[in-house]
Amino acid sequence: MSTVDICETFTSIQGESTYAGALCFFIRLAECNLRCSYCDTQHAYDPGTLRQIGDLVKEAGESGAAIVEITGGEPLLQPAFAELATSLKDLSGKTILIETNGSRDISVVPDGIVTILDVKCPGSNESARMDFANLERLRTCDEVKFVLLDRADYEWSRELVLQHDLARRCAAALFSPVPGRLDASLLAGWIMDDELPVRLQVQLHKLLGLK
Ligand code: SF4
Repeated sequence: MSTVDICETFTSIQGESTYAGALCFFIRLAECNLRCSYCDTQHAYDPGTLRQIGDLVKEAGESGAAIVEITGGEPLLQPAFAELATSLKDLSGKTILIETNGSRDISVVPDGIVTILDVKCPGSNESARMDFANLERLRTCDEVKFVLLDRADYEWSRELVLQHDLARRCAAALFSPVPGRLDASLLAGWIMDDELPVRLQVQLHKLLGLK
């Protein structure tokens, strides 16, 4: 089997997506091609440790978590990403999620894996790097996430949700406020005022003081 460049592995409570609240084994791949203004994962920017895919599958299989998330950094940068995802799905028997920053074509994600697609809003300073064709590549099992810094980000995201009918075409359209920058109750009010078919999420793991 091939190797992948790993930042860290750990078990925690899933803090985002419709899987929030569940025990989850995280495989954080190293290196990222973006530099979002609010990034809280800067320790994943640099190359990490090369590890055999077989070792990671074994570690995930031994975890008590029924969900495994491959995250980053940016997982789709790594040549062996699809082999890692497929091996985890076939050999661990668990639900496999992949969170990607939206800059790379998600059609490379193998069938049977749930993609959680970040769409970087203008406040991230990285929206120009998005591959917006990904919005049409989402499958019904996938989820799309907008991290919002302010009202301008909200209005930008609202237009994309409506234009692409995202709430109907995939499992969830998630709106998440940047902690400490946008008040979640303010965002809740905007969503209610517009009767927008999105799901408000806060980063549950951070509220719990977890990784
Ligand atoms: S994509 Fe994620 S890891 Fe990369 S800079 Fe943005 S927030 Fe940080």
